[in-house]
Amino acid sequence: MQNKTSMSQTEQILSQLPGDVLGRLRNADQSWKALQEGTTPVPLVVKETQELLGSVDWDIVICGGTLGILLGAALQRQGWRVALIERGILRGREQEWNISRKELEVFLELELLTAAELKQAIATEYNPGRVSFFGGSDIWVRDVLNIGVDPVFLLDTLKSKFLDAGGQLFENTAFEGAAVHPNGVRIDAAGGLTTRLLIDAMGHFSPIVKQARQGEPPEGVCLVVGSCAGGFPNNDTGDLIVSFTPIQTQCQYFWEAFPARDGRTTYLFTYLDAHPQRPSLEFFVEEYLRLLPEYQDVELSQIDFKRVLFGFFPSYKNSPIRMPWNRILPVGDSSGGQSPVSFGGFGSMVRHLNRLTQGIDDALKCDALSQNALAQLQPYQPNIAVTWMFQRAMSVGINQQLAPNQINELLTGVFQAMAQLGDDVLCPFLQDIVQFSGLSKTLLLTSLTKPGLVIPVIPQVGLTTLLDWMVHYINLGIYSGLYPVAQLIKEPLKTFPPKTQYYYHRWLNAWCYGSGNDY
Ligand SMILES: Cc1cc2nc3c(=O)[nH]c(=O)nc-3n(C[C@H](O)[C@H](O)[C@H](O)COP(=O)(O)OP(=O)(O)OC[C@H]3O[C@@H](n4cnc5c(N)ncnc54)[C@H](O)[C@@H]3O)c2cc1C
Repeated sequence: MQNKTSMSQTEQILSQLPGDVLGRLRNADQSWKALQEGTTPVPLVVKETQELLGSVDWDIVICGGTLGILLGAALQRQGWRVALIERGILRGREQEWNISRKELEVFLELELLTAAELKQAIATEYNPGRVSFFGGSDIWVRDVLNIGVDPVFLLDTLKSKFLDAGGQLFENTAFEGAAVHPNGVRIDAAGGLTTRLLIDAMGHFSPIVKQARQGEPPEGVCLVVGSCAGGFPNNDTGDLIVSFTPIQTQCQYFWEAFPARDGRTTYLFTYLDAHPQRPSLEFFVEEYLRLLPEYQDVELSQIDFKRVLFGFFPSYKNSPIRMPWNRILPVGDSSGGQSPVSFGGFGSMVRHLNRLTQGIDDALKCDALSQNALAQLQPYQPNIAVTWMFQRAMSVGINQQLAPNQINELLTGVFQAMAQLGDDVLCPFLQDIVQFSGLSKTLLLTSLTKPGLVIPVIPQVGLTTLLDWMVHYINLGIYSGLYPVAQLIKEPLKTFPPKTQYYYHRWLNAWCYGSGNDY
């Protein structure tokens, strides 16, 4: 038994929590280390064959249940034959997912939840939320990411609806491999399942995605550690993004805090690359525990930890991933469809739920299941691509020398400009929806009023990132213009063959979502 005084704060606190949290943290660290060192094994789980399948039992098999069940319930409701395989038990995590209220309306639109069920799924709601950076002043916003959804209730309700509508769930069943045939996919699970379409919802570390990416290193990583705990001073407000320290350990630390059902959720998160010298998750948990008292104005000994949370989210410039096979579609975290500055994968899935349900329905109806046809369902979105520059501007290279407050000062300047321009600019941005007009106005205002903040960003992010960004920025402008124009041909196109219509609707979706017109 280790002497208590020689134990780190992390060891002391985590060892008192149920469920071997310390062991899980160290396991996660092994995966993080493997990613940093490029030693993550590349599995061979998907193969192709030219043989025809004798029969195809399912229209859709979804692998991975956490966000997979959202889509599973929606597609089963459309009348498709859907099976879902989940390697564990399909159950939501204890910790709430934060999202904005308006985004949840899709559950009503798709008739996945009744108004009463949606109400019950909302565990917490708070207002207002704060944005604040070291040395700057506080900005307050309302109704942004201020709803805490109870994943246990949500997933349980969707699971019942899915089963009631005739969906089949295989729990404790892991995806191990698949063969793509010309007329379907055979999945090695539950004695062999055959399907027209395989949906990969197995998260960032999906074996299918690992094979498709072939060990390609991520350009960015968002690392998050935190807890849900009691014992804090009363505080009904939240923090959307806050920093109160200068750069340290070649990282800028950001914080998030929300009132939660079991007390208060607080997260420390940072953006970095996967350089081998980057610290471990355990180091960041220790940093979190060191700084939490200052952040929340409370003694560590007063905090009653209910659960400690952590994760790392790799992001790839080559996103969303294009699968090299027919009949396989990634959704949720596996698709890499969300922005590199976000760890709101639930929010991102909910935002795209209607579009994906409709798109998959169309694809199945007209048999548009080729690699290219399915890639249209996870299209390039310039408004996500432009956020790569923000990821860069909020992170520090392992050997880069930056002024200690460079990131804080830049963010203070940019957010002040956004606040000055109003909620129409600030709120979508905080919900991960970048729009051309809002972005242009912000950049113009910041460059004109505070050129001293903008110029140092150029050497920080590098010329390649900047040029890349310009291309995406121009595309964002083009997409914003194309969307309203392309809608004009909606009516005449109704006479065209289904496949042509399929592509047209996917492009329309790409221009809409890719320019933030869905907001
Ligand atoms: C600390 C923390 C806080 C977060 N807070 C928020 C938030 O407030 N709001 C928000 O929107 N998002 C938040 N997120 C992100 C959100 O939790 C994820 O984006 C979401 O869980 C992604 O879901 P997924 O189903 O795509 O992947 P995962 O959550 O990784 O789930 C993958 C599923 O696939 C299953 N699976 C994996 N491999 C196999 C296999 N071989 N066979 C069968 N099944 C398999 C797993 O068991 C799991 O059910 C947070 C994440 C963390 C770590």
